[in-house]
Amino acid sequence: MEKTKYKIVNISTATSASPKASVLIIYTGGTLGMTYDEAGVLTPFNFSRTVEKIPALRQFDLHLTVISFPQLVDSSNIHPKHWVSMAYIVYENYQRYDGFVVVHGTDTMAYSASALSFMLEGLNKPVIFTGAQLPIGSKRSDAQENFITALEIASARIDGNPIVPEVCVYFGSHLLRGNRSSKRQSIHFDAFTSENYPSLAEAGVLIDYNFPAIRPYNLDSELIYHDQLDPNVAILKLFPGINRKVVESILQIPDLKGVVLETFGSGNAPTDAFLLDSLSDAIEHGLTILNISQCAGGRVIQGRYQTSKSLENIGVVSGKDMTTEAAVTKLMFLLGTESSVERIRQQLPLSISGETY
Ligand code: ASP
Repeated sequence: MEKTKYKIVNISTATSASPKASVLIIYTGGTLGMTYDEAGVLTPFNFSRTVEKIPALRQFDLHLTVISFPQLVDSSNIHPKHWVSMAYIVYENYQRYDGFVVVHGTDTMAYSASALSFMLEGLNKPVIFTGAQLPIGSKRSDAQENFITALEIASARIDGNPIVPEVCVYFGSHLLRGNRSSKRQSIHFDAFTSENYPSLAEAGVLIDYNFPAIRPYNLDSELIYHDQLDPNVAILKLFPGINRKVVESILQIPDLKGVVLETFGSGNAPTDAFLLDSLSDAIEHGLTILNISQCAGGRVIQGRYQTSKSLENIGVVSGKDMTTEAAVTKLMFLLGTESSVERIRQQLPLSISGETY
């Protein structure tokens, strides 16, 4: 990775000679830091200069550094190579900062947060993703509140230790575990949800931390950075009437190694012979198939109904209560780091960083 390409700006809001904490802000793009151009189209803007002008920052006793991606991205253009860059920046700067804030577009924020939760093994400091539905310069923007609170959470400590030593999404007053979050709203400010895991904090007049839900700080943990991701995955979403051609065209994609199968309810699928035969054949040929539910809440229980028992019998792996975002990135991560298909299938349903129970 070429570090020199990154624009680095130091901003001191410190009110004392030894600031309370230091936070590294990784600016990747997204609406938060955009501005409207002459044609009225949202385009990325010089974020560090904007940040310097936020009056509320002066009330923090923080040392802030902003690293901007050389090419700012609307998060719809996020690619695994960007996750490698984000994770590497955290890894490279891990000892120098108390916490990290990743400014990111909302569209794929939950994918990025999930990916980083797997790539940063043993993380013991906050990595807080945030963004906004309206640019920071707009009237009624949610950007300042999201950004300022993310900074506060990234620098929050108790007895000298970080309060939230994990990858999170902070948005619209909720702090969510990153790999449990999903974008559910494109218009309202309250854009993210975590149906299967409680919020880690709620921000109102005070920030109310839900301590039992937060991953505990581990004194001995050491950060291990993983940069191997295999993008040869696909999502196969079932619907009533799905036909053989659709199923086969996905399962026969050259080099495909993993499929997230989005099923109904608690993991159920039609019992059509063509579907089970195609899935079974693909599994025998080394494809890993992970079953997650199209329902945002609840979980897959293979074998609860006859319509999921057959999936269990042919070797489909249960994704339990994982989000699509966690399932896709976990498959890429395990396919990238593990060579044995058997081990990948064994590890998939187990929690790596709190993405499932
Ligand atoms: N399209 C934008 C992005 O994801 C939306 C946003 O930032 O909220 O980058």
